[in-house]
Amino acid sequence: MQENYDVVVVGSGLGGLTAANIMARNGYRVLLAEQHFQLGGLATYFRRRHHIFDVALHGFPVGMQKSFRKYWGKGFSDRISQVKKIVFDNPQFQLTTTFDTEDFTRHLTETFRVPRAQVDGFFAELKSMNYYDDQSEPTRSLFQRHFPDRPDVWRLLMEPITYANGSTLDEPAISYGIVFGNFMSKGVYTFIGGTDLMLDMMAAELRANGAEIATRALVERIIVDGGRVRGVVINGKEIGAKAVISNGNLLNTVQDLVGEEHFAAEYLAGFRQVRVSNSSCQVYFGIRPGERLADIGDLLFTSTHPVFDSAAICARKVTSRTYSVYYPAIRPGTDQYTIVASMNGWYDDWAGYSKEEYRAAKEALIEDTFAALENYVPDIRAICDYTEAATPKTFQRYTLHRNGASFGTKFDGLRYSMNLHEQIGGLFHTGSVGIIMSGWLGTVNYGVMAANEADKFLTANR
Ligand SMILES: Cc1cc2nc3c(=O)[nH]c(=O)nc-3n(C[C@H](O)[C@H](O)[C@H](O)COP(=O)(O)OP(=O)(O)OC[C@H]3O[C@@H](n4cnc5c(N)ncnc54)[C@H](O)[C@@H]3O)c2cc1C
Repeated sequence: MQENYDVVVVGSGLGGLTAANIMARNGYRVLLAEQHFQLGGLATYFRRRHHIFDVALHGFPVGMQKSFRKYWGKGFSDRISQVKKIVFDNPQFQLTTTFDTEDFTRHLTETFRVPRAQVDGFFAELKSMNYYDDQSEPTRSLFQRHFPDRPDVWRLLMEPITYANGSTLDEPAISYGIVFGNFMSKGVYTFIGGTDLMLDMMAAELRANGAEIATRALVERIIVDGGRVRGVVINGKEIGAKAVISNGNLLNTVQDLVGEEHFAAEYLAGFRQVRVSNSSCQVYFGIRPGERLADIGDLLFTSTHPVFDSAAICARKVTSRTYSVYYPAIRPGTDQYTIVASMNGWYDDWAGYSKEEYRAAKEALIEDTFAALENYVPDIRAICDYTEAATPKTFQRYTLHRNGASFGTKFDGLRYSMNLHEQIGGLFHTGSVGIIMSGWLGTVNYGVMAANEADKFLTANR
């Protein structure tokens, strides 16, 4: 690491990686500092024996194609490919869909017998939503207006979004509508080559554009002088920076890295109310080389709970699981099959265990997931040669997100993230906030927005 940079980016999640790339392309001297030994943040992977497990590559909207092409290059966008078989299995319905407006309209009119005009009206409203619109209407009332007293339809529309980001029916309709509408435009997509290839390509692109990447580089503090950023402390060493873009959790950024004493009382009063999202549990299954998995779908949203219930989806007693199935086509030229089961969870449900209890709880999680997966892959125990579990503690440990939050902050965090630079000159935040700026597409786009703001600041303060 040098003594000084134009900009230090704290954290290499998709928001940080993208912000660093834009700043480097614009000719700034950039340091990307990541505390982990690996890049990607939540959007990462890990190797165990002959398996590669993707942590958060389950699906993103088609908008990633355009964002990748513009902000990373054609080599990235060309690898984006549709995930075509999405399965729902719960006590209210079983169906297979391509998860786009056309196929959902077919299901809503034919399977759920909703009049066509009602369905069209709902999708038309989703299309017209913007993140700066009025937030007062909750999702519950949006559904009640379009599909009154149809809990089965609500489940179809809401459950996959709750599985992904923990949204509830009481949160703003626009945060639900924008995320769901993005998927509905053309379905669900993935990155051919897997997260490992994508991150290798990103590191190469960053270096080609002149950015420096430091891993195992914990930013301990963001130095603020006279209301303005002056640098950071990384692993005990002071590094000068004219601007800092933090990709760390918003709460950690304000309270731990900068310190509340540097913020106005008005900002803090609202900021302290900002809630973080729930966390996740995952169970990873590696299929023994030479074994094959039948095609059971790419993404399976399963639940044994009688109705849609966002609290039950996050409960310690698991009733809902999303399986992502990775066939060899994801990593062409290999014969690797893996399955990742994702469950929502709360940090506090896992935090109080002793070491032995924690280990036993993880074993039980693996065992329960095996039993549930047998409904879809009857011989899973015979063909699987590796399992491992992650809990909210795991997510906190590897990303430092407060309470292992999988999607940063709830909607209320958005304005405090976007207005950070009004509090501290030269300090910008990017990364999971407000549901809309979360997920692969949201964080890549938010990385660009943060870089543009930092660019404006540096240009004005030359
Ligand atoms: C289980 C799971 C499944 C998901 N599935 C999907 C999906 O299918 N589709 C989708 O669109 N989204 C999915 N997501 C969400 C998506 O992965 C995230 O919203 C997105 O990757 C977050 O990016 P980010 O820019 O906020 O950074 P993060 O991924 O949060 O990364 C922040 C980075 O900053 C680093 N950092 C923090 N503090 C410091 C510090 N002080 N010094 C140095 N480094 C620091 C961390 O180590 C980390 O690498 C999933 C998330 C989870 C948890």
